[in-house]
Amino acid sequence: MFDKILIANRGEIALRILRAAKELGIATVAVHSTADTDAMHVRLADESVCIGPPPARDSYLNIPALISACEITGADAIHPGYGFLSENARFAEVLADHKIAFIGPKAEHIRIMGDKIEAKRTAKRLGIPCVPGSEGGVDDEDTARRVAGEIGYPVLIKAAAGGGGRGMKVARDEGELVHAFVTARTEAKAAFGDDAVYIEKYLEKPRHIEIQVLGDGRGNAIHLGERDCSLQRRHQKVWEEGPSPALDASERARIGGIVAKAMQDLQYEGAGTVEFLYENGEFYFIEMNTRIQVEHPVTEMITGIDLVNEQIRIAAGASLSLRQEDVRFEGHAVECRINAEHPATFRPSPGTITYFHPPGGLGVRVDSAAYQGYRIPPHYDSLVGKLIVHGRTRNECLMRLRRALDEFVVDGVDTTLPLFRTLVRNQDIQNGLYDIHWLEHFLKTGGLDEGR
Ligand code: ADP
Repeated sequence: MFDKILIANRGEIALRILRAAKELGIATVAVHSTADTDAMHVRLADESVCIGPPPARDSYLNIPALISACEITGADAIHPGYGFLSENARFAEVLADHKIAFIGPKAEHIRIMGDKIEAKRTAKRLGIPCVPGSEGGVDDEDTARRVAGEIGYPVLIKAAAGGGGRGMKVARDEGELVHAFVTARTEAKAAFGDDAVYIEKYLEKPRHIEIQVLGDGRGNAIHLGERDCSLQRRHQKVWEEGPSPALDASERARIGGIVAKAMQDLQYEGAGTVEFLYENGEFYFIEMNTRIQVEHPVTEMITGIDLVNEQIRIAAGASLSLRQEDVRFEGHAVECRINAEHPATFRPSPGTITYFHPPGGLGVRVDSAAYQGYRIPPHYDSLVGKLIVHGRTRNECLMRLRRALDEFVVDGVDTTLPLFRTLVRNQDIQNGLYDIHWLEHFLKTGGLDEGR
């Protein structure tokens, strides 16, 4: 087992990793930018190292500074969390050169899944169902027109290097295609430095359902069920829940079995998420994330499995602590991502939290690095905390979520708490009847105003 883990991240995920490490008896090193000197992860870690000025490229993305921090403190492993360097294959390789363990998958798998064209090709080869689309990248307008014609409109043009929902353009007919193709390429180049794009069928009313996996890198892999992340704004997840209100046990076992088998064949190592769109009873692969995800607590709440503990143990060479038949799904969990943003305009609201009172009680979990007097810096994402609630049934979970949201007080900055208080009382949400466009439509048609 490792002696000391350096956490190359900040915010709630840095705390999450720190907690898992402490429970394993492993010492922790926090790193921070000059904007994060007072951050909670710095206070709770055994040691801390300042790695640079506020911009992420000079601090949390600064590979030489992270390696020096390991050398100074004697850390023998790095956990990258999510975002920042978590899906950077080069980083994993550089760490290997320095004999520092990377708590994550093999560099080769990060690289494959980081290129969406390559990821889709690999998924197909492994027997995972994919969205109908181009075989590989599409480089010119004539090919785009031909491929789109074959797939049938509407189509979606997507960036190979995409992420965070950027670089995607819909074309409803041939008239829209060239413009969509050219803008998608330009945006992809600007956002990712790579203008490679591919085309797939645009699904009109799908749900976003993702399967959590764990593998030991030697051919053992299991699935931990699904999370439904259909409630999105600008392709960003807002509310995640498990099990999905749209799946039954046999569908779960079927898709879970396909994914687990694929991960066994790939000899995948660590935690990962295989994301699908789900429409009319069919699953369509969209991408794989080779890291811990923001919404991982949903799975932890319904399985009782500590995913970060598993990640650390696997990276240290242990085998999986469970077999597929040991995984039991109990009850229902919902996660709300509470951001420091205006609840209607979603304008970021950095500033000082003047009062902070998180909810508690049975089945309530708050993953947050915020505290009273904490100043949210403007340099990073606006996540203030995640509220995760568990109940024996979906209905009990929603009633508990309602009261937990009502208890939650964050003063001094705007937060999206009011949005969730409205959502939890909404009839469609209560009935589990929503797809990936539901939230945008709800916001556009003034749904938020009605609830207040
Ligand atoms: P990113 O890596 O940028 O998040 P994804 O491929 O995961 O990109 O897609 C993000 C979201 O975009 C999905 O959750 C879904 O809402 C939407 N999306 C992606 N592909 C399609 C598709 N073929 N049809 C309809 N919506 C899609």
